[in-house]
Amino acid sequence: MNILVLGSGGREHALVWKLAQSRAIAQDGGKLFASPGNPGMEGLAECFTMDLTDHELVVGFCEQESIGLVVIGPEAPLVDGLADSLRGEGISTFGPSKAAAQLEGSKSFTKALCDRAGIPTAGYEHCTSLEQALAALDRFSPPYVLKADGLAAGKGVVLPETRAEAEAALADMFDGQFGDAGAEVVIEEFMAGEEASLFALTDGATVMAFGTAQDHKRVGDGDTGPNTGGMGAYSPARVLTPELQAEAMAKIIIPTVRQMADDGTPYSGVLYAGLMLTDEGPKLVEYNCRFGDPECQVLMMRLESDLADYLLACAEDRLGSQEPLKFANEVALTVVMAANGYPGTPEKGGVIDLRDAEAEGAVVFHAGTVRDEEDDSLRASGGRVLNVTARGADTKAAQEAAYAAVDRIDFASGFCRHDIGWREIARGN
Ligand code: ATP
Repeated sequence: MNILVLGSGGREHALVWKLAQSRAIAQDGGKLFASPGNPGMEGLAECFTMDLTDHELVVGFCEQESIGLVVIGPEAPLVDGLADSLRGEGISTFGPSKAAAQLEGSKSFTKALCDRAGIPTAGYEHCTSLEQALAALDRFSPPYVLKADGLAAGKGVVLPETRAEAEAALADMFDGQFGDAGAEVVIEEFMAGEEASLFALTDGATVMAFGTAQDHKRVGDGDTGPNTGGMGAYSPARVLTPELQAEAMAKIIIPTVRQMADDGTPYSGVLYAGLMLTDEGPKLVEYNCRFGDPECQVLMMRLESDLADYLLACAEDRLGSQEPLKFANEVALTVVMAANGYPGTPEKGGVIDLRDAEAEGAVVFHAGTVRDEEDDSLRASGGRVLNVTARGADTKAAQEAAYAAVDRIDFASGFCRHDIGWREIARGN
């Protein structure tokens, strides 16, 4: 079977890396394509550029190359309805429909669904004007949680400490700071606790837990400095004990999938729940309708089952016929190497020499690299550049293996955090 992966980041490199090991590709003569892909995928997939907003073009490519499965990595094409266009032409596609992708694309949609299904989450108010939002602040106390309703590339949430800051932030949001995404705003109660992520695969009816992870959002060691897309992650997140996972599946994930089906917008794909572990139990912070980046990298490092089988089973509404998923009983940890300047303006073009970073079993997933056509060197092309990923018997061992690989890499204009995994290591996991 031929498989097409859409996207260009470390998440998609990890998906391509795992799919390349699937029977469909490794044994049955199938071919892997990635669009646009990145230099890290070159040996695994045929990479090419195509306009993913041109659905007819994507459908045409799939028909021409007899693609048996399309895997959509990022959220934007999902929210844009690419999965609907592909399925409409009978092409098996992993990823939710446009209507179902609203779980990520609209915070007020998800909050309203939580109300209908009785899912534990922060109390909230959905505001469609600045006046309404300013008045609503009376009903909340600091720290305030203000969210642009639509997709804002992870930057649409602010947590002001004072009323004056909250009022100023709301004025900016309604003034177009986040474009259309901020035309409506959700104000939420602040939830105290530790955050962790829980992943599940679903075909709209059957739901299978797909593991846990935690990431590090802040740019600096000790969780300091500005927020980023994620500077590292590990799986499993043992803070999500089997009991807490079972509770989150029963009270959050499964009721969501049922409610989506009852509403006539069944959700199919991976459901990624950002959870807050509060004194009252796990509560939903947000849903994402795709794998996390860099969480996907650590999940793929631990997955032992044939990924293509499961993604295809989701796409073809027969996940219920699959065996339970198997994961290595080890910890996987990834360290993000970013270009100097990130999360501000990253320095572009820095030369990278990976040398023997993968010699001891680590895998270097590419996130923001390009191949220089003149001298064939690898160069940095984005903020987050490499995801250096390794496994170990526990978090400490995985951390040591990942940093040993980081130390082998020559990337003079890059940096990384030095404490990925600290929470789990402090807990003795
Ligand atoms: P991303 O996709 O980058 O995680 P997002 O823009 O989709 O972000 P959320 O995940 O909803 O937004 O919020 C971003 C972060 O803000 C959360 O990871 C959490 O740390 C914090 N946060 C959000 N909602 C709450 C809340 N109600 N109480 C406490 N903290 C919150």
